[in-house]
Amino acid sequence: MATLRVATKPEAAPMKAAQISKPGGKFEIVEREIPKPGAGQVLIKVQACGVCHSDVLTKEGLWPGIQYPRVPGHEVAGIIHEVGAGVSAWKKGQRVGVGWHGGQDGTCRECRRGDFRNCRNLKIPGISYDGGYQQYMVAPVEALAAIPETLKDTEAAPLLCAGITTYNALRHSGALPGDLVAVQGIGGLGHLGIQFAQKFGYKVVAIGRGPENATLAKRLGASVYIDSQASSAAEELQKLGGARVILATAPSSKAMSELIDGLGPNGKLVVIGATSDPIEVTPLQLISGSRTIQGWAAGTAADSEDTLNFAELSGVRPMIETYPLEKAEEAFARMMSGKAEFRVVLTL
Ligand SMILES: [Zn+2]
Ligand SMILES: [Zn+2]
Repeated sequence: MATLRVATKPEAAPMKAAQISKPGGKFEIVEREIPKPGAGQVLIKVQACGVCHSDVLTKEGLWPGIQYPRVPGHEVAGIIHEVGAGVSAWKKGQRVGVGWHGGQDGTCRECRRGDFRNCRNLKIPGISYDGGYQQYMVAPVEALAAIPETLKDTEAAPLLCAGITTYNALRHSGALPGDLVAVQGIGGLGHLGIQFAQKFGYKVVAIGRGPENATLAKRLGASVYIDSQASSAAEELQKLGGARVILATAPSSKAMSELIDGLGPNGKLVVIGATSDPIEVTPLQLISGSRTIQGWAAGTAADSEDTLNFAELSGVRPMIETYPLEKAEEAFARMMSGKAEFRVVLTL
């Protein structure tokens, strides 16, 4: 009997990634070698990755110093596949998430004071290093959040950026249970903000443009819906006594400016919808009632873990549309269209 000879094929690269090879470029589905985790890092087998508006920073090269090709993605849910040297707190097989906070230097002034969220040299997955639009990614241990058992990967992913941002901004806003809290915008951030606000025990006012979101806003937990096209949201908020906090999620500086007069005494406008045009406010608006305006950026991996645990406990879930990794370009376009309801998630 003749010996069966099997032709040796050149070994195929063992994983797929959706990369951007130059600013303004399209997503390219490429094959890459599976990376190796270094000391203090883990290799994650990615199961799902959210498509966030901030991925535009990588796609269009809007963040200084990005090295291309780059794989975007900072809403990563997966399973630890391999641990690097010196990693003892995390184990192979553990479900983990990685969000915007992709690691701190541990040495800057803010880190020395424990304020890792504001690290001067914050690392961001998908910007500083390759993110979750790929089958395997490497992340440092300080970027890892454990995913609770009952949360699906596709549910956990958006909670790692949109979720943590709304959750963390609200829980640090100073609003107490029973306070009037308004959530401006019913989109990727807002639909989570409304849910968290209701579960925190606030009286929740949702502010949207047009009547069509009223039913959804109430289903998500708002007790009042204000259509800002039909009436002045600031006046409506004042009729209710004025807001303790307004969480501004829709990226419209004009809409945010119009809301400031809806704040009650000691009221705070918390800004998380990112735009680059100015919010208009007069000193008098701030002085009367000692009002404040504050911005808020996501949070650390520990904050992510709090967000995931609270979501599991309370039933807060993102509304999602899923696409396979191969359709990253289409998924990104869908997210950019503003028509997705409400977060787009890649599955791997
Ligand atoms: Zn994001
Ligand atoms: Zn630092």
